Amino acid sequence: MTVDEKLDGILSTILARNPGEAEFHQAAREVFESLGRVVAKRPDYLEDALIDRLCEPERQIIFRVPWTDDKGQVHVNRGFRVQYNSALGPYKGGLRFHPSVNLSIIKFLGFEQIFKNALTGLPIGGGKGGSDFDPKDRSDGEIMRFCQSFMTELFRHIGDKTDVPAGDIGVGGREVGWMFGQYRRLTNRFEAGVLTGKGLSYGGSLARTEATGYGTVYFVQSMLERQGTSIEGHRTVVSGSGNVAIYAMEKAMKLGARIIACSDSSGYVVDEEGIDLDLVREIKEVRRARIGDYVKTRKDATFIATGKGVIWDVPCDIALPCATQNELTARDAGVLIKNGVRVVAEGANMPCTPDAVEAFRKAGILFAPGKAANAGGVATSALEMQQNASRDRWTFDQTKDRLGVIMRNIHDTCAETAEEYGEPGDYVLGANIGGFIRVAEAMRAQGVI
Ligand code: NDP
Repeated sequence: MTVDEKLDGILSTILARNPGEAEFHQAAREVFESLGRVVAKRPDYLEDALIDRLCEPERQIIFRVPWTDDKGQVHVNRGFRVQYNSALGPYKGGLRFHPSVNLSIIKFLGFEQIFKNALTGLPIGGGKGGSDFDPKDRSDGEIMRFCQSFMTELFRHIGDKTDVPAGDIGVGGREVGWMFGQYRRLTNRFEAGVLTGKGLSYGGSLARTEATGYGTVYFVQSMLERQGTSIEGHRTVVSGSGNVAIYAMEKAMKLGARIIACSDSSGYVVDEEGIDLDLVREIKEVRRARIGDYVKTRKDATFIATGKGVIWDVPCDIALPCATQNELTARDAGVLIKNGVRVVAEGANMPCTPDAVEAFRKAGILFAPGKAANAGGVATSALEMQQNASRDRWTFDQTKDRLGVIMRNIHDTCAETAEEYGEPGDYVLGANIGGFIRVAEAMRAQGVI
């Protein structure tokens, strides 16, 4: 797709102002490709540099994170928090700890988060943060000291009415707990709503852990229902074996799908009998080991190491990329299409490259972009904030049922918006325009700030 000429100049300025930020450029371009249809109908959105303002983060914080390893050696990492847009509510978005983290990655994630959060219909703005710290092979003590040092700077920038971080790659319940403890110590406040993804013993919400993966599958279910079919019996391949992947597999299995393959960064496993999810969880969540261990127990399964093959070569009806950005390329999309894939839904953020997305759209594959399909995580984080604010605690089913309703609404918003703008079935267009209009309306109402 191309960018409308009315928007071309704005995009060029943004790209020139943020040199070398490939992932951010990719995310911005994708949204701009959808916005041509909006400004054709609503040229007033071009006034007051609204789109230029939307693309410039309200605030970007970069800080030093020193910490000491178990041998007494001091290390220095870089911390980030990009507070992108608070027109709809406090900045909201996760923290990622991974060696690949840089400003471009955090900005792309923060930018996507604005539209995703708007699509949930809940009062949350967009932000994202993290560090280039690598938690792999670090002891609990090292990771705790890192989290404490990270929070020692971050605490002055966040708050339950300002900015509410959560987990992402490399940051789960354990890390959120250590950061929450340090925040409480530094501020002398039990401000439960300052972080989400908390443990259940101190203000976390039931169903938050499951929410992103479950939500992705609910979205797929809605897409298939619209086509008069269901997820049942479909061969499904899920990349990753972290938080999103595990709960996507769990929900898809419950709804009758057959999960054939999953992965981690070391490679992927194929089990034609159906993936044994308890075994995957034992390997990844308890032992924190590599996915290749799977075949030590399940002798008929196969393991293919990274570099020796690609998980998307496994024929399937439904593909759920749930690992990381740009993990599914145009070549992979070609193989999936040739093998008859019917649905691709992004559990991860921007896992499909732009030419892969284009290939799916051209081939008429049902394609759900991450900003819609994985919005269940942040939506349930907002439900956690609601419970914290009202000092209440909902049951698992209460929270899960609200998640189901929210995902259905997101699906319908995307589908209806795509139809209204002349591209029925184009969920990318529907998500970008649906999210944009909500933020744009709030920004216009609040003046030039
Ligand atoms: P986790 O850290 O729990 O899991 C990430 C998984 O992806 C791990 O299995 C990891 O393998 C694997 N992985 C990472 N890089 C690669 C790679 N290059 N090839 C294959 N596998 C890889 O993270 P989450 O599950 O929380 O997040 C996954 C994605 O979902 C991210 O894009 C995140 O931004 C997005 N997301 C997460 C939400 C959440 O609520 N957690 C909400 C919305 C989006 P290994 O174990 O080897 O590192």
